[in-house]
Amino acid sequence: MNNAEELKSKLFKEKTNGYEKLSEKELKKVFSFSEGYKEFLSENKTERECVKSIKRLLKENNFKNIDELKQLHPNDKVYYINREKCIYAAVIGQKSPEDGFNMIASHLDSPRLDLKPNPLYEDEEIAFLKTHYYGGIKKYQWVNIPLSMHGVIITKDKKIEIKLGEEEKDPIFTIADLLPHLSSKQEKKTLKDGIEAENLNIVVGSIPYKGNIDEKVKLNILNLLNQEYGIKEKDFVSAEIEFTPAMKAKDLGFDRSLIAAYGQDDRVCAYTSLKALLKEENPNKTCICIFADKEEIGSMGNTGMYSNTFEYFIEKILNKTVGNNPSIINKVFNSSKMLSADVTGAYNPNYPDIYEKNNESYINHGISIIKYTGSASKGGASDANAEFVGYVKNLFESNNITYQVSEMGKIGIGGGGTIAYILANRSIDVLDCGVPVLSMHSPYEITSKYDIYEAYKAYKAFYKGE
Ligand code: MN
Ligand code: MN
Repeated sequence: MNNAEELKSKLFKEKTNGYEKLSEKELKKVFSFSEGYKEFLSENKTERECVKSIKRLLKENNFKNIDELKQLHPNDKVYYINREKCIYAAVIGQKSPEDGFNMIASHLDSPRLDLKPNPLYEDEEIAFLKTHYYGGIKKYQWVNIPLSMHGVIITKDKKIEIKLGEEEKDPIFTIADLLPHLSSKQEKKTLKDGIEAENLNIVVGSIPYKGNIDEKVKLNILNLLNQEYGIKEKDFVSAEIEFTPAMKAKDLGFDRSLIAAYGQDDRVCAYTSLKALLKEENPNKTCICIFADKEEIGSMGNTGMYSNTFEYFIEKILNKTVGNNPSIINKVFNSSKMLSADVTGAYNPNYPDIYEKNNESYINHGISIIKYTGSASKGGASDANAEFVGYVKNLFESNNITYQVSEMGKIGIGGGGTIAYILANRSIDVLDCGVPVLSMHSPYEITSKYDIYEAYKAYKAFYKGE
């Protein structure tokens, strides 16, 4: 190396494709980790399904329902489930709670199509379900793809769980777009309005019930639903039915370096942080893993991150470790550290105009640190303290974790947020830190197996940190 090369390697921030650094053995490890992840994604398309699977994995690893234990001791492993839609887990540490907890928080909800409360109707002898989209979607991406049906229906005397469209033998559902031959009017519309929200109506049947009455196709569908699930039309009111892409998670590319799947925002961070927590034995500080709901629609409601359930869970831990002393909770928050484990948009080379190349996240360049989110003026961002960013950066470096630091797109071009600010408002040190995703919020999002593994390593290191 000549002098300039030497100086450059010393002073410049390294920017390398992670795959270039991997030995054959390490590559195998990275690829084999992604197998479990793909299974998790294919099996769990909704927050309720995720909670069930996470609970099973926690129990298999000796975690107990926190309400079953009177007292908590170091290395006790516990979980708490809120309304089947969000789950908190903890491994109790050696240190006093007053020294703070190490927490990682992701979310389990993903953009999708929910059913309206009065969804079923018939039009020209085709039966449809009317939807109301959940989270930020580009509506044109959701037509003419296979959809599956997930959720719960509460009837007079029972609760029915539905999952239909995922098994090979199951029917699927879809939304019928207009044929190109007759689309000249539609194609003049903007991409945003080309498919309208009120046209996201799902085709669900076409055989009429025999008899001389109106709405025979609708009747036939209701009759089938009644035979299968015992429900009547009015039971849709007390239901949460979500239609999600029916596709399974798959390897993407000739080299299988990437994963294509629905719901990777934010299940990629949920899965990797869960795996990190499952590895935790006898931690110094209490390790908390949060899997929130409702992030995609603003974190409101009793399963969202704004809810007091989070305090409720922390209080449960405090009551069972240091005793009932409510005044301590703010002290605990004030000395706690948190990674808001959420994805960010990866640089998409098809659209260079959107990005500011020096400050983007790149596929295969490791886990992304985002100091602040928000839009134009950093509006709405919690903007992590330099000291805390420094702590995380040094931690990653000393643990050989490939990380990148970015914003998302040019200033003012758009924006978004995570749950970081909600927890930062409670005086916790919080930093956004997650996996970059291509085609985020689409029915088939793309991530890198390398980045996924680095996230897992990063979350493990964070739990082991000070
Ligand atoms: Mn997210
Ligand atoms: Mn999102």
